[in-house]
Amino acid sequence: MADRVINFNPGPSALPLTVLEAAQRELLDFDGTGMSILEHSHRAKPYGAVHEEVKQLLRTLLNIPESHHVIFMQGGASAQFGLIPLNLLTPSASADYVNTGNWSQKAFSEARIVAEDQGAKVRWAGTGETADGFTRIPTQGELELDDNAAYLHITSNNTLFGTQYKTFPKSKAPLVCDMSSDILSCPINVDDFDLIYAGAQKNAGPAGITILIIRDSLLHGCRTKGLPKIFRYGYVVENDSLQNTIPTFGMYLARGVLRWVRDNGGVAKMAEINAQKAGMLYGAIDARPAFYQNRVEQSVRSLMNPIFRLPTEELDLAFWQEAAAESMVGLKGHRLAGGIRVSLYNAVPLSAVEKLVAFMDDFAKKHGA
Ligand SMILES: *Cc1c(COP(=O)(O)O)cnc(C)c1O
Repeated sequence: MADRVINFNPGPSALPLTVLEAAQRELLDFDGTGMSILEHSHRAKPYGAVHEEVKQLLRTLLNIPESHHVIFMQGGASAQFGLIPLNLLTPSASADYVNTGNWSQKAFSEARIVAEDQGAKVRWAGTGETADGFTRIPTQGELELDDNAAYLHITSNNTLFGTQYKTFPKSKAPLVCDMSSDILSCPINVDDFDLIYAGAQKNAGPAGITILIIRDSLLHGCRTKGLPKIFRYGYVVENDSLQNTIPTFGMYLARGVLRWVRDNGGVAKMAEINAQKAGMLYGAIDARPAFYQNRVEQSVRSLMNPIFRLPTEELDLAFWQEAAAESMVGLKGHRLAGGIRVSLYNAVPLSAVEKLVAFMDDFAKKHGA
């Protein structure tokens, strides 16, 4: 087998090696059943146990209260950009969005399509954009919230521009949060949220599953008229996410990742290691601020996706190429942000960051910083 590289991919991203190895071992015979988990019915017992365990692990790891349901859907976080307004935005209502970058904007523009058709409204309640790009998260005082909004939508971590909420806004309207790129990276108080959603492929498993944590009382006001059942949150809750064939293999891999989080000290321990990893990387950036440039406000720097750029695009290019030659991949910034992005999801070990930071030191010296 070829050596595995050091994977800083933004998503899909690194998975724990032990999870992949277990999947490999169990691929032909799951739990002594004589067939692969891929070949089992989603309604039969072997898969049923996986399904229950994924839910239970999420409940335990995130300390999810009884007031909230855990469901799984498909189509990624992007499908939720449309399904949230389809379920929660009733005719003539209005929803608030906070603009902290590309994913918030996508969520907003999908919601606007629904709103226009419904005679409803979507509005921006605040922005993190400055002359230097998305370098901030608006503070509570800067938000212009509509107390009567159907919901307030935020994006906890800006995967492209490297900003992250450290405290979440308080609002009278139900709080809806896209946590795709930082779920399970640090403890949260689930009760502060009415709906949390996250594509699994960054911190929780492979692509193909979207995790939703939804407050029971939010379901009662949900739209049903004109909305096919498969898209209704209430219907998915009633059917325990098994109204149709769930991506069983993805759930099985998610179980592996969640077990790995549990066995490695849980979400609090993940947070501790993530802070150490990000601290080490920002330390290397701040040691040479003219060479490794990061304009994000210190207090909202992302622990998951630190970004920086070099003085020229040629140096950006040389950085990826020389890093790749040392088996460090996935460092190219998003095309909208340019520069370098280092994705430090849970499964990226401290040793990977140690190696990158040593490389950054050598690279800066070699290129005259
Ligand atoms: C990756 C990402 C998405 C997109 O997820 P899909 O599952 O590909 O639709 C949405 N929001 C955030 C914050 C992300 O990081």
